Amino acid sequence: MDIVKYPGPVLRRGGKKVQDFGPALTQLASAMLETMYASKGVGLAAPQVGSELDLFVLNPSGDPADRSGERVMVNPEILGKRGKELGEEGCLSFPGLYAEVERATAITVRYQDLAGQVREEQLDEFVARIVQHELDHLRGVLFVDRLSSVEKLRVRNRLTDMERRALAAKA
Ligand SMILES: [Zn+2]
Repeated sequence: MDIVKYPGPVLRRGGKKVQDFGPALTQLASAMLETMYASKGVGLAAPQVGSELDLFVLNPSGDPADRSGERVMVNPEILGKRGKELGEEGCLSFPGLYAEVERATAITVRYQDLAGQVREEQLDEFVARIVQHELDHLRGVLFVDRLSSVEKLRVRNRLTDMERRALAAKA
């Protein structure tokens, strides 16, 4: 699968609630996982592969040989947040760009698995950060929207560069 890069318009569209938990959904999730591993990522949301479904995949190890932390979250929502912490983030839709983002340190998330089963989990540290980043994708929000003004200034040229290149590719 190809990953949609910034400023691809689908990245702003967000996801729609998944109703159909059939084999097509499982297929999409496993293709997304393979794409994520191949790109050395730790999370990937459906809009990043051009789909408008409300789901993302993640694995904090980023290692296809260690799938113990692998998760597929369908129709996720955050029920509660605790603490705040700055940490460095990147995004497969922004190759080579890293910036400090403030996120909650711990979250309670409710989602459905691929069978449609509702699950609730308390997560903290890195995996909580990934979930918050990926859930943003499902609302059309990107990590560069959440930067401090200093960080925004620091990455501004890189973003302008990506926007110009996308325009040039279209022309
Ligand atoms: Zn991302």
